[in-house]
Amino acid sequence: MINLTPEDVRLKATAHSKKDAIRQVGELLVNRGRIQPGYVDSMQMRETQANTYLGNSIAIPHGQPAQRDLIVTTGIAVLQIPAGVEWNPGEVVRLVVGIAAKSDEHLQILTNLTHVLDDPAAVQALVDTEDAQVICDRLTGKSSSSSKGLDTEGFDQFFDVTIDAPTGLHARPATVFADLAKSFSAEVRVRYGDQVANGKSLMSLLKLGVERDGMVRVLAKGSDATQALNALQQAVEDGLEEEEEVAASPALKLPALELESRSLSGVAASPGLAIAPLHRFHRTKLEFAETASDPTSEQDRLRDAIALADIDLTDLYTTIKERSGKAKAAIFQAHREFLADPELQQEALNQIPPNHSAPWAWQQVIETKAKELEALADPVLSGRAADVRDVGQRVLARLVGGGEAGSALPDHPVILIADDLTPSDTAGLDPEKIQGFCTAAGGATSHTAIIARSLNIPAVAGAGNGVMELREGAIAILDGDKGQLYAAPTEADLAKARQAQLDRAQLRDVEQQTRFQPAITTDGHRVEVVANIGGPAEAGPAVNAGGEGIGLLRTEFLFLNRSAAPTEEEQYDALRQMTQALNSLPLIVRTLDIGGDKHVPYLNQPVEENPFLGIRGVRLCLERTDLFETQLRAILRAARGGYIRIMFPMIATLEDIRAAKTVLESVRAAIDGPPVEVGMMVEVPSAVLMAAEFAQEVDFFSVGTNDLTQYLLAMDRGHPTLAKQADALHPAVLRAIYQTVQGAKLAGKWVGVCGGLAGEPQGAMILAGLGVKELSMDIPSIPKVKARLRGASMKQMKRLAQRAIACRTAEEVRAL
Ligand code: PEP
Ligand code: MG
Repeated sequence: MINLTPEDVRLKATAHSKKDAIRQVGELLVNRGRIQPGYVDSMQMRETQANTYLGNSIAIPHGQPAQRDLIVTTGIAVLQIPAGVEWNPGEVVRLVVGIAAKSDEHLQILTNLTHVLDDPAAVQALVDTEDAQVICDRLTGKSSSSSKGLDTEGFDQFFDVTIDAPTGLHARPATVFADLAKSFSAEVRVRYGDQVANGKSLMSLLKLGVERDGMVRVLAKGSDATQALNALQQAVEDGLEEEEEVAASPALKLPALELESRSLSGVAASPGLAIAPLHRFHRTKLEFAETASDPTSEQDRLRDAIALADIDLTDLYTTIKERSGKAKAAIFQAHREFLADPELQQEALNQIPPNHSAPWAWQQVIETKAKELEALADPVLSGRAADVRDVGQRVLARLVGGGEAGSALPDHPVILIADDLTPSDTAGLDPEKIQGFCTAAGGATSHTAIIARSLNIPAVAGAGNGVMELREGAIAILDGDKGQLYAAPTEADLAKARQAQLDRAQLRDVEQQTRFQPAITTDGHRVEVVANIGGPAEAGPAVNAGGEGIGLLRTEFLFLNRSAAPTEEEQYDALRQMTQALNSLPLIVRTLDIGGDKHVPYLNQPVEENPFLGIRGVRLCLERTDLFETQLRAILRAARGGYIRIMFPMIATLEDIRAAKTVLESVRAAIDGPPVEVGMMVEVPSAVLMAAEFAQEVDFFSVGTNDLTQYLLAMDRGHPTLAKQADALHPAVLRAIYQTVQGAKLAGKWVGVCGGLAGEPQGAMILAGLGVKELSMDIPSIPKVKARLRGASMKQMKRLAQRAIACRTAEEVRAL
């Protein structure tokens, strides 16, 4: 409630113009310590854009949202002008109520004002009074005039809608509503709680005091009632012409770097800016003899080297996956599969007798395979020759020693130049020393580029053979955003690039420093930003990165790399550690999602022809209720001491979710566990199409864009060649998410996204614009995504989202 005292009121004022009246009321606010003087200019400016005349001789000047930081404390001031001042042609104001509101507290004043405005005699009393306390009492609601309620009898048609204007149904949106309603002959009523307003009367609408996110019912009666309701619904959903607020924080995006020096152009493979001397990458030539005398021991050597290379690849896969997600690590899984090919191994083993060495035999087979691939017309397949050679090199290095990418690198920062780099070369680069790289061959979607991005190494690919002619040691500039390498930049360009580097570092600092601030858009909408984690060690870092909780705990990670399933106690302990680290922030625990590409040998699952379409996720849990019940017991016990929600993966049918809930409820009843909110992953197309029905069964949805994309586009998410086309920004995926949000809305449920798309800044903005309330992502993405969301308005994001779902290809969406 706003505190209004006689000191906030000036009686018997005179004003020669509207501007003068605003200046005076502004001065009053300044003198009372409510605002800084600059806010008065903002009030004058607002008047040039919007009309603050309320009617019945009252005006409510106030400043623009962008200058809210000039408000010291919320308050109002009143100027009584008995002789009146012309506000607009033909409209005279006698009571000027200057408003400085940090948020929407002024709605209460507006509500009280409208009670007064209903009654011309009451207004006249305020204009005539010589006692400022009378004005204070009336405006703060301590005294009031009676107001008559309206009925809604016979208003059979209606719609319900949430008012999501940042400050509720205040003067401007209410004016738009009333004006539109007046253009129809039907009578219009608006119900808010137990109050009913005349939809054609601004006063009556304001009197409702509808706050942001308030749900109203709009009813109509008369010959064109349907048309009136359709038009009003559209207008409310479009935001009732609420003005776009000026961004409160900078857009957190820097302009592209423009340099004049000559450059080599390639493909922008990995963003960022590097300044360092050039260094040519040499792969150590692996020397070996062609012949050997003991074929059996050579064959053993080869088998051992293959086994060791497989261990290297598994490590590499795990490291890259942890750092940057499964999709980016997928190439090393593909390398493992290639290595495990029994035919390939046998061919190499066969080449050894009677007197060839293991490395020679291996290289023969690898070269033959690579050449066969190179000969294929399909550029994607022929590109895989590089991967074959990469795997080959790894085994050779194990056979003869050496050959690692880093072995011949200097110990100071450099920009590498190379004809090409393999994914393994790239994964072995130390980002501290390798500031960037430029290759003659390759493209933006090569695995090398994907890994460079995951390591945050700026890179340019496909710059042509000129790269190999460049002089080593010269200071160069590599612009990974534009795909340019400036090998001999001028001093002026070097200075420009160094400044740009500082600006970028500052931007990252800003993101880091502001990571604990909530992601509130410039027009006041909050998006929850939470983390995806796999175990207790990540809970603390998630909070420290600015995560507001955990949107996805992949519990299967507690089951991997062991010889038996974790006991209930072990699972309980792990969960307790996490709830403690989270200190009451929410933790969404996803029950086991094993199957597909996640194998747990000790579960002895039969081999399936299509594991992604097989016994995976909740399907396995419903078959193995022993595992499921143990896990649920551990979760429910941990929920006694922490804020835990449960989520089921791979739900495809209503029967799935009902069965899972039945098991949960029986476990809960057996141990007298606490009630918990229950959600489900939306990652199977059937769940999207039946979102409205599923929403009746659960408290929330979390969209798994990784699986949803693979199932919608029928592209294996880990496929070495298809994975990169399985783009979650495909309009089909975005439309599916939108449909899910719509379905959830009908049942009043919220939707989150925990797939990789949530962690991409552009993806996050589109998702927020589609109505997603919670975004869950890899820990490193949190500060950047929060900063981006804070730099935009929900209105902008809604527009972006609508444009995105109207696109025809993922490429068009990315280009927006
Ligand atoms: C998803 O499918 O998007 C998801 C978040 O789950 P996972 O990646 O663990 O399958
Ligand atoms: Mg999934």
